[in-house]
Amino acid sequence: MKYLLLLFIILSSCKYLSDKESKLKTFEEIHDKAILIDGHNDFLMLITDDLVLNYTKNTIAFDMDLNGKTHLDLARFKEGGLDVQFFSIFCLGSQKNPFDMANRQIDSLEAIISRHPDKIVKASNSIELLKAVKQQKSVAMLGVEGGHMIENDLSKLDSLFKRGVRYMTLTWNNSTSWATSANDETLNGNLKQKGLTDFGKQVVKRMNELGMLVDVSHVGEQTFKDVIQTTTKPIIASHSSVYQLCNHKRNLKDYQIKAIAENDGVIQVNFNPPFIDKSFAKKSDAFFERHKKESDSLIKILKDEWIVEYHLYHKYVDEANEIRPPISMLIEHIDYIVNLVGIDYVGLGSDFDGITITPQQLNDVTDFPLITKALLEKGYNNNDIDKILGGNILRVLKANEVK
Ligand SMILES: [Zn+2]
Repeated sequence: MKYLLLLFIILSSCKYLSDKESKLKTFEEIHDKAILIDGHNDFLMLITDDLVLNYTKNTIAFDMDLNGKTHLDLARFKEGGLDVQFFSIFCLGSQKNPFDMANRQIDSLEAIISRHPDKIVKASNSIELLKAVKQQKSVAMLGVEGGHMIENDLSKLDSLFKRGVRYMTLTWNNSTSWATSANDETLNGNLKQKGLTDFGKQVVKRMNELGMLVDVSHVGEQTFKDVIQTTTKPIIASHSSVYQLCNHKRNLKDYQIKAIAENDGVIQVNFNPPFIDKSFAKKSDAFFERHKKESDSLIKILKDEWIVEYHLYHKYVDEANEIRPPISMLIEHIDYIVNLVGIDYVGLGSDFDGITITPQQLNDVTDFPLITKALLEKGYNNNDIDKILGGNILRVLKANEVK
């Protein structure tokens, strides 16, 4: 009887502990307390690109209710616990005067901020970031996507840094004269040279000196290897996923994930269905084949494949929903990186507003808590989740800062 009583006490105290533990660790609480930093959003493209403006007929502004149209707006920023957004400064390689375009996009963001200084601020470093998060403001940071935007001129790189740019993706799909892209290294057999030229290495060194993070999303494998040899500071992949799970040229192979971990950098996992679901390409090909006639005529009018994709996925929403991968597939990419190199080298780089379709349940930034929920269910603890949501990229940002 004595033993039975003892057993009862032990069992009930275990129950009490586990209740208490689960009460302390609801996903909402963990999510609320964490600093959530998303590595990549293309909203600024939506309000500056001529073809997109033509398509939307200028009906998009950050302080409007854009629910259903975009993945982010001012009101929804905080709704899903997002604290810090890296806004991508992006234009196509074919754009005339890309440096002017970069400045125009920064102007747009500053205009947004000047209209709502009580709600959103720009941060240039980790101290400003943490201060603004404490004040419960939305925090905007800047990253340039595509080295073509510095127009082969280090003084333009300096100038962008002065305006607050804190990372640069060395290439977009187009190569520059000093760095080859994943796209070209994979598809273009006639490349004269691959990787970083001497000037490319100077760019990386200058970024290290300034405290601008070197971003290897979009770069080719030779460029990646040259970056790893050249950089003296931790690097990022602002929006890339795992090649071993989905063999897309934009994803990172195991040796690259290991090299980034060795460099103490971070991989911000991209949510884009073609990057996370290896069966997606086949399904989306079938979708566009079914709508080929419409797609062919739309491309003549809209002149941009991205806009046509966006248009058709939103028009045939039931069909699009059927091919969206489950959120669990995104979690698998995070889990893979953790299992390969540890908890300290993975984060989130949604690519929201740059992708035309998203995983199931992740409709926009307000759904970020579902990632925390899924991570918790997968067995990640509070501390792990803090690192994935923002702690890891914050560490890399600090490591790059020049005191
Ligand atoms: Zn991109």
